[in-house]
Amino acid sequence: MTTTNRLRALSDAHSAHNYHPLPVVIAHAEGLWVTDVEGRRYLDMLAAYSAINFGHRNPRLIAAAQRQLERVTLVSRAFDHDQFGPFCAELARLAGKDMVLPMNSGAEAVETALKTARKWGYEVKGVPADQANIVAFEGNFHGRTTTIVSFSTDPVAHYSYGPYTPGFRVVPYGDVAALRRAVDAFTVGVLVEPIQGEAGVIVPPRGFLAAVRELCTEANALMIADEIQSGLGRTGTTFALEHEKVIPDVYLLGKALGGGIVPLSAVVADQDVLGVFRPGQHGSTFGGNPLACAVGREVIAILETGEFQDRSRTLGEHLHKRLGDLPPRTVKQVRGRGLWAGVELHAKARPVSERLMELGVLAKETQDNTLRLAPPLMIGQDELDWALDQLERALTG
Ligand SMILES: *Cc1c(COP(=O)(O)O)cnc(C)c1O
Repeated sequence: MTTTNRLRALSDAHSAHNYHPLPVVIAHAEGLWVTDVEGRRYLDMLAAYSAINFGHRNPRLIAAAQRQLERVTLVSRAFDHDQFGPFCAELARLAGKDMVLPMNSGAEAVETALKTARKWGYEVKGVPADQANIVAFEGNFHGRTTTIVSFSTDPVAHYSYGPYTPGFRVVPYGDVAALRRAVDAFTVGVLVEPIQGEAGVIVPPRGFLAAVRELCTEANALMIADEIQSGLGRTGTTFALEHEKVIPDVYLLGKALGGGIVPLSAVVADQDVLGVFRPGQHGSTFGGNPLACAVGREVIAILETGEFQDRSRTLGEHLHKRLGDLPPRTVKQVRGRGLWAGVELHAKARPVSERLMELGVLAKETQDNTLRLAPPLMIGQDELDWALDQLERALTG
């Protein structure tokens, strides 16, 4: 029995089957490359759904984590620590906002934003008690909590978890008229992904995000941008909304913010929004811990150089040009921006990701027919071309 099979049998028998991973067992990773327990190397074209934007074990991030491991890792928010203030100030500056509320997972940042919008709605906007509504979009993915799956339109994510949290309205993504009809005096927030990742890397029609901004301003509702997957360099800019010159009231960040080392998420907004919280009204034991803040600060410093955003922009053009040349016989549509692409096939994508794995490239299907490509942003053109050569082989094989 191979080591791979022995380890897979263990996960199969003893882990809940809430994922359907590719049959590869990884033991080591560096930069773009991961190595499995048999010593086979693969180019990682998924990058942990964009949590590995800066590469596996990025030396700057590992060094920051190691320095912090030697000092202090956790104090809880009962005490302040010397990484906390600087992290919040630096992240707020990166986003052009005043304040940060750090959490751990992306779902917790979303939950925090929903609580923020409701609290702001009641205490600042003046919505009558328990009457607030929040608008979200069909095809959304914002995480897995009971409240978040309450407004998910993906049946697999949604069903069997009721009773569901009320207070959400869901309208078609990209449909400004439907959004206008859904927004009323009791709307406190509109929660939107600038590009819908899990839905298959769906880029909304041009002007849609600016229209969301305008409607939110008109209705005095918070525009909440979930940039957990689209943000921090992935699309060629720090925030995907920059492409549309849109500034939301609230940014939600996660995934790459933790540098692929620790879970770190955040809600970033101005004082008039995040200022609604008083001691005890919200919290998290691990949120904003010293280790996470130290890694997050290094992530911010890396982003401030603009280097990864530039790489994603230039190589992204190359990626999309090559994907555009794939045969229309097998490829229905290619979507995305920067080093991020959804390749929608006429057939199921799973066999393609399995063939790709055999060819030394790791990528994963999202929805049934779409292959998602999101390599670490330090990929070079040669490596990208090699991965795309393998994709061509996998599609014709
Ligand atoms: C991954 C993701 C989340 C949830 O993040 P977790 O860390 O898995 O809880 C929320 N929103 C978007 C857009 C995501 O891609």
